[in-house]
Amino acid sequence: MSQHILVVGAGIAGLATAVALQRVGLRVTVVEEKADTSAGAGISIWPNALAALDAVGLGDAVRASGGRVTAGAVRWHDGTWLRRPSPDRMVRALGEPLVVTRRADLTRILAGALAPGTVRAGVAAREIANTPGGVRVTLSDGSAPETAAVIGADGVGSMVARHLNGPLRRRYAGYTAWRGIASHALDPELAGQTLGAGTEVGHVPLGSDHTYWFATERTAEGGSTPDGELDYLRRKYRDWADPIPSLLAATAAGDVLRNDLYDRDQVRVWSRGPVTLVGDAAHPMRPHLGQGGCQGLEDAAVLARCVARSPDLPSAFARFARFRRARVRALVRESRLIGRLVNLRPAALSALASRATVVIPEAVVGRHLASVAARSAFVLPE
Ligand SMILES: Cc1cc2nc3c(=O)[nH]c(=O)nc-3n(C[C@H](O)[C@H](O)[C@H](O)COP(=O)(O)OP(=O)(O)OC[C@H]3O[C@@H](n4cnc5c(N)ncnc54)[C@H](O)[C@@H]3O)c2cc1C
Repeated sequence: MSQHILVVGAGIAGLATAVALQRVGLRVTVVEEKADTSAGAGISIWPNALAALDAVGLGDAVRASGGRVTAGAVRWHDGTWLRRPSPDRMVRALGEPLVVTRRADLTRILAGALAPGTVRAGVAAREIANTPGGVRVTLSDGSAPETAAVIGADGVGSMVARHLNGPLRRRYAGYTAWRGIASHALDPELAGQTLGAGTEVGHVPLGSDHTYWFATERTAEGGSTPDGELDYLRRKYRDWADPIPSLLAATAAGDVLRNDLYDRDQVRVWSRGPVTLVGDAAHPMRPHLGQGGCQGLEDAAVLARCVARSPDLPSAFARFARFRRARVRALVRESRLIGRLVNLRPAALSALASRATVVIPEAVVGRHLASVAARSAFVLPE
């Protein structure tokens, strides 16, 4: 019988990893501490992640679930264009349009591809101990199953990452992010970002009649707006060029999510023996490149390839971590840098930095974007 692997966490990375491993013949169980794993708002799935999804057989299901986006517009808040790449050029650089879908739909597709009974919701992993034959995991239901290997897909606060590395500090990045879905069609040409001094709003079509948007602002940690997040955003952005006021007007208050953003220490140990990490547990990153979830999908496909090539799980895990480390490290760094520029203080400096990007030639931007997010940026080990 094939080896059994326990995945901790049923987010994007955990579910995708479980699918990918089952497809190469392993037995997998996923434990998820939340009883309800429904996810709100949308997510951009860039072509690098679509290529990874193709490798696990789910690319077309994800393409069919959302809207395809070809533009990468950047405008100033008064509507002035800072960057207006041609859609053809974007698609040529990336290999195909990106997909914007609802997180709930992505989760449904990933979970639906698993063998029945794979996910045990409402069960947390509490402790991990190596045994001569593998790993023993103490679970919140009082059981302590022994398994051949454990994969930590338990997000930025990962207990599996702490098991491998000891304490990992989390620091508030200095700003917060709101996300929502508007019942409002977006002119495809405007898909991209609108920037202001010390703030940004991203907006991409979600199918033909909805728009996924997000906004960031420098503010104190743990804040909330007493009269409602949406009212606050409507006031804050009321003088901005459309589509921003219209999008906020067409969003329901209950659909707005607010999350403070954090940086976490990088893991020194990504993989040791029969324990490894995927997704935010391994490499949390700020959201500015839209690559956090995409990199979790790349992890899943690469890990399954390494396991398929080497049935010795510790060797496969070590190879996986070596293969992935350089790519994700660069993306963590770059998303932090973008976040710092956009949310720089004083705000006038951030305005200067954002507006200065206009002088970077389109071809250079295209080449760089391709190295991050094109189909060709996703590479499987031999
Ligand atoms: C504003 C914003 C916008 C973003 N936009 C994009 C985007 O457009 N594209 C993109 O690719 N990425 C985007 N991201 C990043 C993306 O959301 C994350 O990188 C991704 O969701 C991480 O997935 P994950 O599965 O690694 O971790 P998580 O989603 O954090 O999942 C971890 C799971 O593990 C569970 N868990 C934790 N501890 C335990 C335990 N001990 N036992 C059992 N279960 C446990 C948790 O309950 C959770 O369900 C964005 C992020 C933000 C904040």
